[in-house]
Amino acid sequence: MAEPPNWLNLDHVWLPYAQMATAPLPLPVVGAQGVRLALADGRELIDGISSWWTACHGYGHPHIVAAVQKQAAQLSHVMFAGLAHEPAYTLAARLAALLPGDLEHVFFSESGSVSVEIALKMALQYWRNHGRPERRRVLAFRGGYHGDTFMTMAATDPAVGMHEAFRGIVPPALFADLPRDEASAAAFHELLDAQAPTLAAVVVEPLVQGAGGFRLHDAATLARIRAACDFHGLLLVADEIMTGFGRTGSLFACQQAHAVPDIVCLSKALTGGTLPLAATVARRHVFDAFRGEAFERALMHGPTYMANALACAAANASLDLFEREPRLLQVAAIEDQLRHELEACRSLPGVVDVRVKGALGVVELDGPAAGLRPAFVERGVWLRPFGNVVYLMPPFVIDTADLSRLTTTVWEVVARWSRERPKEKVRDVV
Ligand SMILES: *Cc1c(COP(=O)(O)O)cnc(C)c1O
Repeated sequence: MAEPPNWLNLDHVWLPYAQMATAPLPLPVVGAQGVRLALADGRELIDGISSWWTACHGYGHPHIVAAVQKQAAQLSHVMFAGLAHEPAYTLAARLAALLPGDLEHVFFSESGSVSVEIALKMALQYWRNHGRPERRRVLAFRGGYHGDTFMTMAATDPAVGMHEAFRGIVPPALFADLPRDEASAAAFHELLDAQAPTLAAVVVEPLVQGAGGFRLHDAATLARIRAACDFHGLLLVADEIMTGFGRTGSLFACQQAHAVPDIVCLSKALTGGTLPLAATVARRHVFDAFRGEAFERALMHGPTYMANALACAAANASLDLFEREPRLLQVAAIEDQLRHELEACRSLPGVVDVRVKGALGVVELDGPAAGLRPAFVERGVWLRPFGNVVYLMPPFVIDTADLSRLTTTVWEVVARWSRERPKEKVRDVV
């Protein structure tokens, strides 16, 4: 092993989701192109998870690089109150055009968690502005994850286990099972019958629950949730932070259920994995609830770096690529290949499930998977199993040979694990 570069130590940097007493040194990356990360010691890794699910066009796409460079030379950032710039206004109009129905009012922020916070603030104040301040609880689903800030932790299933230390500080959301079948749908409706008058909104990750363990549900489930929200007059917040921009096979997951949420949260792949940006997008009736003579009706939120011009330029360039390059066809091809090539894992002892949706492939084990991380790096691929899952979320531009490298490596590593079946318990998160 080569020596780490001289700047790499854990004296001052606090790592995400890490026990700093035992965290291994992270891998020093000196560059990234296409689907490959270049390490300081000259090794290359194929990135199978798109840097926390963001880099949908791969790394260093010349069109995004050029757009950000051009924007940096002209205007990097100005405050968004009282001042305006073209990249943000263009991006808002483009998102409004791409999203279904009348989802057309865009509030920018800088991270996914904050975009969900803003959605929940919108939902609560929506009811306050309608003279129904008692409607201020949120219903969320078991297995869901919505972020690491306080209100989003409250809407994340406590069983997901990342936020134990903060349990109860903010009153938890009301939790229901996804209405996947008759029994769970009946329980869901019963809960809503009893609780709807106290609820402001239902929040859901459409079609795929991500960080909670990559569980899938079908479009009919989502349509059932939309119908129940309509029946009870509840706002539906779709957290498309992970699913948005093609990951599940359509530009937005909610389109597969022909469901138009009242509020949508977008982030992760919004800038193609280049700069932090998020958007909370509301339908017209939500937006209208905030209009009026009284200033108190207005939405009281305004991040300092709201609608950063570099990030908006990157997002516009990313949307250009969805228009110019066949991203959704690439996702469909990835889906076929993943289905075909991951299937071999299903018969391995200890493998509980293999599931694929769009450009997401999951191999679920009957035990903790985080211990497999070094084995992937040794084999030249960047995967970060957590909980009981090994998952793939490659950039959409990956070619069939590189995708085969990923699936073959998953098979190899899981097959070895299956033979040796470790018994130790590893507690871990994303
Ligand atoms: C990643 C994620 C978030 C949180 O986004 P951050 O940018 O990490 O704050 C929220 N919801 C979902 C579904 C996510 O995948």
